[in-house]
Amino acid sequence: MSGRALSVFGNAVVFAVLAFGAWLWWRNVTSTADPPPAAVAMLSETAGRAGIDPAAGAPRVASRLPPGSLTFAASGLVVPVAGIEAPDLVDTYTQSRGGGSRIHNAIDIMASRGTPVVSASDGLVEKLYFSRGGGGITAYVRSLDGLWLHYYAHLDSYAPGLREGQRIRRGDQIGTVGISGNASPSGPHLHYAIYRMRPGERWWQGAPINPYPLLAGKTASR
Ligand SMILES: [Zn+2]
Repeated sequence: MSGRALSVFGNAVVFAVLAFGAWLWWRNVTSTADPPPAAVAMLSETAGRAGIDPAAGAPRVASRLPPGSLTFAASGLVVPVAGIEAPDLVDTYTQSRGGGSRIHNAIDIMASRGTPVVSASDGLVEKLYFSRGGGGITAYVRSLDGLWLHYYAHLDSYAPGLREGQRIRRGDQIGTVGISGNASPSGPHLHYAIYRMRPGERWWQGAPINPYPLLAGKTASR
């Protein structure tokens, strides 16, 4: 073999070794156990469709009533007592209470004890409060924009798992109609109020507005 032929042979060997090494490397890369990113995306999408949201915090209130038992008002609110429709509502907002010393500033929705009370709106459970001589077992739910506070009083009980800070959707169960606080034992009802909240106002503050026209879709009585 001439010197030149030796050199060509040597180059060929070097090339073969390099090519084999490259093939080994490529085999390693392509046989990796991790699925490609597209497959991962598909997997998480499937999880999303199945209702599994790993980013979600605590579970919401489990108790959701069948849609047929709820009345959706044109305002976007749900009548907060199951089975109650607009014609069943009475505008008691301006009635006097406490022996005429104050205005009601809420509406009373009459229903049998134990009837489900549901959230009229989406929101956050801001306060669960017991007032023996007043609202009894009560819940305050703040709208997600912070501007409105919904007040539910005289409850018989809270929905299982309901707690402060919890996010709920309209129609989620808050509790049941009762006679707690200063409600008459012969007239179980939900005392429901809406307060317009200014920035920084807390659950015991706010300016009441009449829920009746928002639930009944009618002009409030004078
Ligand atoms: Zn009332």
